[in-house]
Amino acid sequence: MDNLILEDQLSTLSLDPRSQAFAMKMDEQYPSLRSEFHLPEGIYFCGNSLGLQPKSLQAYVTEELRIWATHAINGHFSRAGNRAWANIDLLVVPQLAKIVGSKEKEVIAMGSLTSNLHFLMASFYRPNVNGRYKIIIEGKAFPSDHYAIESQIQHHGIDPEKGLVTIDPTGPSYGLTTEQIFRAIDQHADETAILFLSGVQFYTGQLFEMEKITRYAQNCGMIVGWDLAHAVGNVELKLSEWNVDFAVWCSYKYLNSGPGAIAGLFVNERYDGQLRLAGWWGHDRETRFEMINKFKPMPGASGYQLSNPSVIDVISLYSSLEIYGKTDMATLTNRSNLLTRYLKKLLLDLPSYSEIFHIITPELSGSQLSLYFRNGKMQNVFDRLKDHKITVDARRPDVIRVAPTALYNTFEELRLFVEVLGNILEKILNVATIQS
Ligand SMILES: *Cc1c(COP(=O)(O)O)cnc(C)c1O
Repeated sequence: MDNLILEDQLSTLSLDPRSQAFAMKMDEQYPSLRSEFHLPEGIYFCGNSLGLQPKSLQAYVTEELRIWATHAINGHFSRAGNRAWANIDLLVVPQLAKIVGSKEKEVIAMGSLTSNLHFLMASFYRPNVNGRYKIIIEGKAFPSDHYAIESQIQHHGIDPEKGLVTIDPTGPSYGLTTEQIFRAIDQHADETAILFLSGVQFYTGQLFEMEKITRYAQNCGMIVGWDLAHAVGNVELKLSEWNVDFAVWCSYKYLNSGPGAIAGLFVNERYDGQLRLAGWWGHDRETRFEMINKFKPMPGASGYQLSNPSVIDVISLYSSLEIYGKTDMATLTNRSNLLTRYLKKLLLDLPSYSEIFHIITPELSGSQLSLYFRNGKMQNVFDRLKDHKITVDARRPDVIRVAPTALYNTFEELRLFVEVLGNILEKILNVATIQS
């Protein structure tokens, strides 16, 4: 559909897509929220690794530091509503729920992605209780996810050779088809406890068909968890409607909350009563400070909290979520698709396309294209782009990831990037011709 919108714009505007006039027109019709962010020098396409700093953040952090300096312990209770530190976790819940498409009680900001995954596995992976012992993941899962899942299997005394099932891309394609995932599910249907995949693949940018895959695996008796590190704040999610069992994410990528900032998780409300690793912050808010040593979990995801959260972290996330509050995920996803398709069109038009590089990102993707460079050319291209103050991400040895982020990147930035890249590649081609 977004392809049609782009084609439609190209024909109505009757401008060359490579022209500045076209890019400017698109930016006018589909404006970004870039004025809300501090922008580093040059052009930044790494919002998938580390999002930009909201301009409002500094004042928010300064305010918390001031309260700490002037009120100390009284900051926990003596402020209005959810700005009291004892309730600060609630401050971000409504907007987080909108971003992941869930009920408010099903999400919470806490911990970090990998540690949250371990905590949730303690609840959802209990091979000695229900007999199912396998976990299915992607062969090219983010290493932290792979390590976490493998160590969980070992933790239960199971050999990962038997317990860990990986789905690997076949042939030259880097993507995984939904059918391929279904086949892996079928093959291990009776022994598998959990299917754990990423919503958007970090390396290729592929967007998985989360709803279909969730339903299929659940029909085979599996619990389905999603790693949304590259999906949250990037693509439209409907975790409640899709009946997802659990999900984890970090907030420093598309969610712009700062390096290592507080992460988040989703637990479907049907798991309210289940066993979990407990901590005092998951205990009933009303009686938490009575210190009664009888754990009474709060309903929903709040009940999975362990520790009191870092206030600076939460306020940092809040300042970014406020920007999300000025738009909605449907609008952002539409803009992101237009940017990504525009980038793709310009890249495919380069004379050096397929001669030096090609796109490995499948058709269904988030705000990211991964470019595979042949014959060890990647580093050189990456360095030349850096000379032009264009920040992209190098996945050594051969891939550059480019993420046009819907909140702050523009069509004009993409046009400039491809112009610069085209010149760099032309030089490389010329040198190769002279040498041969
Ligand atoms: C970024 C990312 C992580 C990072 O994990 P942390 O625990 O936040 O350090 C994990 N998994 C995936 C898929 C990621 O993209």
